[in-house]
Amino acid sequence: AKADGRHRFTLFSQDMIEISRRRLRIANAINNSLNANEFTLFYQPKVDVHQKIIGYEALVRWSNDELGHISPAEFIPIAEQSGKITQITEWVIEQAFKDSHSIFAVRNSITIALNLSIHDLKNPSLINIIYRLMLQYKVKPQQIEFEITESAYLDNFEGANLFIEEIRNMGCSIALDDFGTGYSSLSYLTQIKIDTLKIDKQFVDQIGVSQRSTLVTKTIIEMAKHLDLQVCAEGVETIEQSQLLLDSGCHILQGYYFGMPEPLEIILKKLQ
Ligand code: C2E
Ligand code: CA
Ligand code: CA
Ligand code: CA
Repeated sequence: AKADGRHRFTLFSQDMIEISRRRLRIANAINNSLNANEFTLFYQPKVDVHQKIIGYEALVRWSNDELGHISPAEFIPIAEQSGKITQITEWVIEQAFKDSHSIFAVRNSITIALNLSIHDLKNPSLINIIYRLMLQYKVKPQQIEFEITESAYLDNFEGANLFIEEIRNMGCSIALDDFGTGYSSLSYLTQIKIDTLKIDKQFVDQIGVSQRSTLVTKTIIEMAKHLDLQVCAEGVETIEQSQLLLDSGCHILQGYYFGMPEPLEIILKKLQ
């Protein structure tokens, strides 16, 4: 048993070395990849209670010659920890603003949602960059929503609040992403001024599976309504989930049931 334990320990540390090697390769590849146009944006529709498309969320995709396709679920946290997230965020914002013209040309009234990392909020110069890009690409702030994604605990609500206030003063709206999971907790609601609460897929997945989770989801929607917030549910895959969310008063739905994230050309074709 002793030998077995040691063997496992050896394997474990080799795994750890492999993992940190990959993380380092990913972190080191980000800068060149941004310049080499290896990143693209996919767009996933959001629909209202009548299943009408009211907007799209931009989701970043990365394909590298050596590393292959890398999921944002893997590289975004690495970018955050290695201080490279804001470079990605800037690229995403500029690309989405460029893309937005062809989207708004087909449907003028919809919104585009962009993900902001909580780390981005620590960088006040990003506000000026957003403002400058908005002027440069002639994007109406009312048509831009920022979804704030937390992968770490927010220790400075004040700084984050100032950032968010500036963005809202410009006319953009703010959604709190992944609500109810990980670090996105009730304390955010009391300390940050937002427009929309986004219910995480984890809750949507449990609808109809667990009665307690279904009740928690319904309660989140109720609470959001009391706070005068819009509620968006993500990761909706079935008609049953969709029905229960609508019956509970959810305003906006998003998920494979309504549409996958897809390249710009495809969503433009479908929108026409
Ligand atoms: P998120 O913001 O919570 O986005 C939802 C994720 O769920 C996306 O994964 C989306 O493709 C996926 N999804 C949507 N509907 C369904 C569904 O019905 N079923 C299933 N199984 N999945 C669904 P994706 O694109 O891999 O992104 C993962 C996470 O990476 C995002 O989670 C977000 O936190 C982050 N991310 C993606 N793009 C960006 C970005 O441009 N900037 C930042 N900071 N983070 C990003
Ligand atoms: Ca999001
Ligand atoms: Ca997230
Ligand atoms: Ca999520």
